Amino acid sequence: MKTADWPYDADQHDPLTQLRIPVTGTHPGFTYTACFDRDSEARPNDAEAQQIASFIEEYQEHYFGNGSWRRVQQAKPFDMDCYTTTVFHKWAPNDWSYRCVTWQYGPFWVPVFPRQRGGEYDEQQLGALTLVQVMDRIHAHGGDQPSTRWAAWKTSHPEAFRPPRTNTPDRQTINDEGRAVTTLRIKRACNGCGLYLGDADNRDVDEHGNLTDVRAECAICAPLVEFEAQGCATWQVTPRSISQVGDELDRLGVYAKGYWEDVDGKLAVTGLRVGTGATRVVAKYGDWLVRHPDGQFAVHPAPAVASSV
Ligand SMILES: [Zn+2]
Repeated sequence: MKTADWPYDADQHDPLTQLRIPVTGTHPGFTYTACFDRDSEARPNDAEAQQIASFIEEYQEHYFGNGSWRRVQQAKPFDMDCYTTTVFHKWAPNDWSYRCVTWQYGPFWVPVFPRQRGGEYDEQQLGALTLVQVMDRIHAHGGDQPSTRWAAWKTSHPEAFRPPRTNTPDRQTINDEGRAVTTLRIKRACNGCGLYLGDADNRDVDEHGNLTDVRAECAICAPLVEFEAQGCATWQVTPRSISQVGDELDRLGVYAKGYWEDVDGKLAVTGLRVGTGATRVVAKYGDWLVRHPDGQFAVHPAPAVASSV
């Protein structure tokens, strides 16, 4: 909301504002470099927020360098003075579109609204694109390949645009004494579920020497990272965690108790029953319990991925 000390139409107290990302409607009133559409169905996760901030920085650095006009922009909460503002919209995990405020013809969003995809208005037939794929298109200038300038920016900004993790297989060799020797690269396990993600590299330790959160890379945990980005709380219900999850729900004033089932002729607890009446949900062992910001609970089933450990 605009006030005397906040003249912008971008949301002053949105966490993205700290990253110099304006959160606005589809027709922002300032010449921001890029915005996030506040009417999006989903919020950017941390990695995507960094990518939008980096997209804005690339534009500013390219057009204004380190000159005095750049410093004028940096003194404001957002980077502006852009010929056409790019607005990003997130529909669902890994499903993004964009529009430029100068567009007068053609589709409103590229890719088009999800419900229009594959229909008569979907001329480009793009399907769902990730945020990086959308940014590549913006920089492609009509072609399919992103510009070399943009590709170079991504390579030199791995903090926002991480290359895929390598996964070097163990190597068996016979040494001079005829003994078998195994050479292996240290692997990184997901901090959410323990799944091996590939070779450990410098993305796995932050500047304080702490292990980083890599759950967004993990097929099992990525949906939960998205839930957390929407402001949801998540718990995995396992035989080990069930009493702690129960205690935490108790503190939230939510009724929860063990869910009993017949297992090989004996009654046994197989999960957690949460809530009462029609809104009751059951999270079986392995499932994730998700509490949405409105207080509603949902269950995210354990994915059918074999444990790698
Ligand atoms: Zn995981």
